[in-house]
Amino acid sequence: MKKLDVLRYHPPSPLQVVEHEAFSQRGLRLFVKRDDLLHPHVSGNKWRKLKHNLIAARRLGFSKLITFGGAFSNHIAAAAAAGMEFGYSTIGVVSGEESGVVNPTLSFAQGCGMELLFTSRANLRNKTETELLELLKIDATGAFILPQGGANCLALPGCREIVTETTAQLGRPPDFFVTACGTGATLAGIATGIADSKCRALGISVLKGGFLQNEVENLLAKCGEQSCNRWEVLNDFHFGGYAKWTPELIEFINDFKLKTGIPLDPIYTGKAFFATVQLAEQGFFPAGTSIVLVHTGGLQGIAGFNERFGDLVL
Ligand SMILES: *Cc1c(COP(=O)(O)O)cnc(C)c1O
Repeated sequence: MKKLDVLRYHPPSPLQVVEHEAFSQRGLRLFVKRDDLLHPHVSGNKWRKLKHNLIAARRLGFSKLITFGGAFSNHIAAAAAAGMEFGYSTIGVVSGEESGVVNPTLSFAQGCGMELLFTSRANLRNKTETELLELLKIDATGAFILPQGGANCLALPGCREIVTETTAQLGRPPDFFVTACGTGATLAGIATGIADSKCRALGISVLKGGFLQNEVENLLAKCGEQSCNRWEVLNDFHFGGYAKWTPELIEFINDFKLKTGIPLDPIYTGKAFFATVQLAEQGFFPAGTSIVLVHTGGLQGIAGFNERFGDLVL
């Protein structure tokens, strides 16, 4: 049981100063919050979002976790690894028309002892969790149900810790936080943390459709959090939609790694970092401001991406 203390009392993730000409030329200071280094397998914002869920599950006496996600999902990989490390059995309901889909993410999850059940992508998108459990005849007694992406109210306090940690590391809040957005829960958690400062938060949507501003507002309201007006979702950097990419994006990711040593994934962090550099070049950030780019992890996804498209990402 003591093992959960690893989650409760972990040291802060490193805050790395990054030298990059797009920022230094304009009097901007860039820091990368290396949440990708929080844990080798429960990486990035998935650690932040799972933290208080796992603590609650333990307190409520649950020993089983059931969750949902796409076939390459960072959340599925993180939940499986967390289950193994902290002593929960895990079931993952993943998208796939047939069972036995093999890719590096799902092999990893199975290796952690996660039981995988498959359903169509449409089911995963349209059905409620209760409907999915019924459809797949899953016995959920004694199970803690985590939504897709781990995006529930218990995800917010963990993501808020990104703000408190960074503020302590800098000695004051930065002027901007920037994070990639999928469900928007990470941005929502950061927004709750900046409510008392002059700081702003930008969420870079990796999805097409422009609905995330509303989703984040809805999540904040559902969780009883005040929505301050110092955060926003930017919708111009999705590269065509979820998991879509262009050669320009891949070149940026590889170039950024060569210049800074920081690896990025093509689904989330690559797009958020690309956006931040482009915003700097466009003069979006006033001179003298400090920008904290949150490295939300997701590096496990590179193997699956390279397997599908050829070894593009370094
Ligand atoms: C899941 C994930 C996100 C999206 O986080 P949300 O809280 O769903 O917005 C961003 N970056 C990485 C690397 C992720 O794995």
